[in-house]
Amino acid sequence: MRGNASTILKGFRLASGILTAPSPKKIKKLTFAVTYMCNCECTMCHIWKKYRENSALQKGEMNLEQIEKIFLNSMALRKVEKISFIGGEPFLRKDFAEIFLFFSRHYPYSIFDITTNGQNPALIKENMAKIFSAIDPSRLNFLVSLDGLRETHDKVRGRAGAFEAAEETLNQVRELSPSVRLIISFTLVPWNYRELLEVYYYAQSRGFSMTMRFAEMNDSFYYGIHGPRNGWKVEELSEAERRVFKVIGEIQKRRGLLGKIVNSDIFFFEKMADYMFLPRRTLNCYSGTHSFFMDPYGMVYPCLSLDRRIGSALDNGFDSVWNSPKAAEIRKSIAKGNCHCWTDCESLPSIQRHAKFISSNLKKHISRTFSFGSRKARER
Ligand code: SF4
Ligand code: SF4
Repeated sequence: MRGNASTILKGFRLASGILTAPSPKKIKKLTFAVTYMCNCECTMCHIWKKYRENSALQKGEMNLEQIEKIFLNSMALRKVEKISFIGGEPFLRKDFAEIFLFFSRHYPYSIFDITTNGQNPALIKENMAKIFSAIDPSRLNFLVSLDGLRETHDKVRGRAGAFEAAEETLNQVRELSPSVRLIISFTLVPWNYRELLEVYYYAQSRGFSMTMRFAEMNDSFYYGIHGPRNGWKVEELSEAERRVFKVIGEIQKRRGLLGKIVNSDIFFFEKMADYMFLPRRTLNCYSGTHSFFMDPYGMVYPCLSLDRRIGSALDNGFDSVWNSPKAAEIRKSIAKGNCHCWTDCESLPSIQRHAKFISSNLKKHISRTFSFGSRKARER
């Protein structure tokens, strides 16, 4: 019953996203990095270095009271539909469960994502027990990073035993709440793409969903990376794309007709490698208008990828930052196409506002059903 209600709500939000114009007055999504503490040493992300290189920075992270104040005092933030908690590693914050519970009370109709590296199963279990005692699990997506099978995952995460820990976390959360949606989150880099399908089958065999994306290629203020990295060879990218399409085929096989047509993730996955071959803007982006990113210090950005600070919600209050001339100027620049990226947390909310993804899914379904179209389309 609860599941049905959440599917109906999802469908309603999807339809309203397509039918209504994006507006800063209707913020749909917040991505909130609650901390930059991290207990991994990933090859494709340098967040773990932040506090090791400058431990004083950590003192600037907001406390629970400061976070609550920002949200309780804002009119603009009254109706956020989706809140994604990321880090660093969110569970390294001693008060993470309290932060989450504040949001679940303040936003009784919102959907939440928690993304974790799953490296501290006991701590995560303790926090999740508190969280499940207070919320309907159908409002939560629980994402655990898994970037390969045992050895590869440990190598990518820079931590021996990382795979086992992630697996234990998944099992324990499942035990606490059999109905919560568990999602394996795979980040493609040149040294793990060969295991993409295996990880998908691993996820399938245990009843987990899977999402994937390529690691960011260039400068990233959020990931703490400066200068190009993760250099892909063309043949590696082509091979990675082939594997991505195999996974897409597997995902689609398991979906009913409606799921095949209305899910925006497939549109995102299909264009991932394409973006890597030729990075460019392909769709209008509404980050900074219908969504934003907030760092652990209360600084507001349009998204995770664009290093343009809109302002400090901690110092000035969210509404004055969000309605400022600087916010308007940044929105204008984004609308002109002055930046681009293809990341799931940022691109998906914008993709969901374009009916194009539905027609693209529909076309592919028809072409597969009647076995016409290009070889690539049939493989999909
Ligand atoms: S990807 Fe996640 S786990 Fe890895 S260093 Fe970055 S924040 Fe930490
Ligand atoms: S295109 Fe990407 S980088 Fe530019 S605002 Fe949108 S999400 Fe951010």
